[in-house]
Amino acid sequence: MADRTEVTRMEYPATSVAGTEGRSGQVRIAIAGGGLRATSVLRLLSDIENLLVVAVYDSNRAAPAVRLADDLGMFTTTAISELAQIPDLDLILDMSEEPSVHKALENQRPPSVGVVAGCGAELVWDLLIAKKRSEEQEKIFVELQVAYDKIRSHERRLQGSKEALEKANEELESRLAEIFFTHEFFKALTSYSSVEDVASLIVDGANGILGAEISCVYLFEQRDWTLKLRASQGRPEESFRPVVAVSETIIGAAFRDGFTQQSDVPMDSELARWSAVPEDIRSQAALPLRAGEAIIGVLLVASSTYRELTSAERDRLQVIGNQSSLALQNALLHEELERLSITDRLTELYNHGYFQQRLEIEMGRAARFGHRLSVIMLDIDNFKQYNDRYGHPRGDKVLQAVSSIIRQNLREIDVAARYGGEEFILVLPETDVEGALAVAERIRKSMSEYEFFTAEEGPSAPQTVSLGVATYPVHATTPARLVETADRAMYEAKRLGKNRVAAST
Ligand code: GH3
Ligand code: MG
Ligand code: MG
Repeated sequence: MADRTEVTRMEYPATSVAGTEGRSGQVRIAIAGGGLRATSVLRLLSDIENLLVVAVYDSNRAAPAVRLADDLGMFTTTAISELAQIPDLDLILDMSEEPSVHKALENQRPPSVGVVAGCGAELVWDLLIAKKRSEEQEKIFVELQVAYDKIRSHERRLQGSKEALEKANEELESRLAEIFFTHEFFKALTSYSSVEDVASLIVDGANGILGAEISCVYLFEQRDWTLKLRASQGRPEESFRPVVAVSETIIGAAFRDGFTQQSDVPMDSELARWSAVPEDIRSQAALPLRAGEAIIGVLLVASSTYRELTSAERDRLQVIGNQSSLALQNALLHEELERLSITDRLTELYNHGYFQQRLEIEMGRAARFGHRLSVIMLDIDNFKQYNDRYGHPRGDKVLQAVSSIIRQNLREIDVAARYGGEEFILVLPETDVEGALAVAERIRKSMSEYEFFTAEEGPSAPQTVSLGVATYPVHATTPARLVETADRAMYEAKRLGKNRVAAST
């Protein structure tokens, strides 16, 4: 025991330890015992403000706590007496767990110095550990909080980028779809030849490229200065007026002015009367379709909500108009040529060639559906005489009168043609002998009552006609035989005195 207390004597360096001067409320502690636990306590205490470990004692110079204290530049000793005598010491923490050490400390300490040992030292140890843990937990908590905030902000940034990306993606997709559609649209325009097809494609384009809710194409009809509906989209066809005068609605305005018109539609506005339900229309734009200098029609886009076209949309509308007008012009030309090629110039009825085609088609249909079909052959009576008496030009007027009377007595599905010089032929699908006789009789009667009169030449003699009727499959089963039979019936009517109708037998 004595050797323990008397090893190396060392003066306590009163000024070498931080805090020994002006110890403003600092608790000065010395540790007795240099074991592992004392080492931990030394470490833990050195973190605590207002506590200052000033010295460490152990009889063994190589004890871990002594070595640590040495490293920290602290006073160390192997003599209990030296530890007990350190000036201004408040407390000795006895971690030695040796009763002899405790006893020596108690004996040698000044009265102002407390000694904590046994349970007390244990408690200090526990408190220090608890403090350390709570500090660590707090540190971890703060670190977690920082990490969480970082994650949240990353997450927010990611969310923002994700939304921007999604939006960009959506825009890209719609732009791509538009480009794809535009490409297909232009490609299709060059391959379509009928006016109906091109007009339908134009409204499809207005829908696909512009996203138009409602669109339609009206084309100019020179004969009566009107605009006729040729294609529509977005509403049932009956919602569009089939014919609009050039003086009416935004369509007429675009046609007359030659510039794109755009307007919101106030209630009861005349501008939307192209629609059968104008109150359905809130905004609209009409683009003239040009063929060189001429305006051949109008493309209209409309919406049931207030929606003004952006300048980009107006440009696109213009592109649709420009690109389609050439195709439209070609198709109109094609249509006109076709019409001319199947029409008789003088009477504007179909010509012989077209009649033959249609008769075959209609007879095929009648055969398939088990329907009747009748043919009426008509020949003007004593027409040579008329020509001789009044001249050929006036004879032509008679031919035109016959044509118009025939037209007045026809249904949509009937076909009338000029068969030869002053001979006409009618095809009446789904019509039996009686029905055909009735039509023939109406025409005969109208002709006999028709007054041929011109201002310059005054009245002329009435012109009658003779008609022969033949019905499929009653009188014949092939087109050629049917015409032949009707012709024979017509000659029978002539033979019986003209100005009459005869049926085949
Ligand atoms: P029928 O009562 O027996 O039919 O006597 P028709 O004089 O009408 O008959 P015909 O066949 O002898 O004469 C037909 C006349 O129709 C002769 C021809 O000058 C006239 N014709 C044929 N095509 C035209 C035409 O395009 N214009 C005019 N003005 N006359 C025509
Ligand atoms: Mg004749
Ligand atoms: Mg004749």
